[in-house]
Amino acid sequence: MNQFSYIRPASLKAAIDAVAKDNSARFIAGGTNLLDLMKSGVTTPEKLVDINRLPLKEIQVNGATLHIGALALNSELAAHDTVKSQYPLLSQALLAGASQQLRNMATVGGNMMQRTRCSYFYDTTMPCNKRNPNSGCGAIGGINRMHAIFGASDSCIAVHPSDMCVALAALDATVLVTGPKGSRRIPFHDFHRLPGNTPQLDNNLGKGELITGVEIPANDYTKYVYYLKVRDRASYAFALVSVAAALDIHNNEIRSARLAMGGVAHKPWRLYEAEKALTGKAPTEENFRYAANIAIQSAKTYPHNAFKTGLSLNSIQTALLKAATV
Ligand SMILES: Cc1cc2nc3c(=O)[nH]c(=O)nc-3n(C[C@H](O)[C@H](O)[C@H](O)COP(=O)(O)OP(=O)(O)OC[C@H]3O[C@@H](n4cnc5c(N)ncnc54)[C@H](O)[C@@H]3O)c2cc1C
Ligand code: SF4
Repeated sequence: MNQFSYIRPASLKAAIDAVAKDNSARFIAGGTNLLDLMKSGVTTPEKLVDINRLPLKEIQVNGATLHIGALALNSELAAHDTVKSQYPLLSQALLAGASQQLRNMATVGGNMMQRTRCSYFYDTTMPCNKRNPNSGCGAIGGINRMHAIFGASDSCIAVHPSDMCVALAALDATVLVTGPKGSRRIPFHDFHRLPGNTPQLDNNLGKGELITGVEIPANDYTKYVYYLKVRDRASYAFALVSVAAALDIHNNEIRSARLAMGGVAHKPWRLYEAEKALTGKAPTEENFRYAANIAIQSAKTYPHNAFKTGLSLNSIQTALLKAATV
């Protein structure tokens, strides 16, 4: 690992200034992803700016909105009473991620910023446009079993690995950000990017911008929800595909639906057309299959991940069935 300096500022301004003014500086929170990237030589910061002294750990309800500080731990958030009762989809998604030990270190901001798990990205002897722009993509002609089926490009077919972010996408969260030019709010849908020609950019954060929190509006998805994660082993593995399903059902009619997927795209993948197809319908297996079929229409597969289309179809249907029968 390269040598680096380490500071632990106590104010937001000092932390932001330290990263904004130094190209080689990076924020560090729980360190569960950044340190792995540093050890494998994928990232080589010369300064780490530890943000753990900043007052960004709170989880609180402000009026009709849940406010989550960027330093709230994944484990605390999953176990929070309000989250369990009012945002159960988020709690389920968090508990599907990593292990209890990792969730005790991993923060909300760090989880959103974690980098892809594409093995070519981590192998510095291989070409990778995300790690080293214009060097090529090892995965397109290589082993691409874990890779994207939606929204990929000729530059990169990697997927975003987070579970938490799939639920945040489904719940229409907003990301709160502060940087050298002040504060702004980014709808969750616009936070992560598709790869296009710039796969080195995972998200739309500007230089020196720090995630300070996430807000989720009150919603009607407190009962009929399910987070389904399909993976190679029962725990401690990233999703092959995952589905966050939330339904608002009254008198055997779906008043509204939210659906998002993980493990299938460079960003959490919201299934807007499938949601529309479910609105006003009865929560039947047939209608769920119909919506799932709509969701997979734009899938494009690669030599080793063609199985993900059928897996997605079945996973969407199953998640909806489980949500409806909780
Ligand atoms: C073995 C293993 C298994 C895992 N399995 C899963 C899984 O199944 N599902 C899943 O979702 N995740 C999984 N993870 C990933 C884990 O959830 C992330 O590593 C963790 O959430 C990152 O949070 P952190 O606070 O440790 O981030 P760090 O490692 O500290 O930081 C990660 C990145 O975020 C940036 N950053 C951190 N906080 C902020 C902020 N507030 N504003 C701006 N930038 C910031 C850092 O600069 C860095 O670039 C796994 C990780 C490991 C090691
Ligand atoms: S899929 Fe993306 S991250 Fe993986 S090797 Fe290709 S460019 Fe790199």
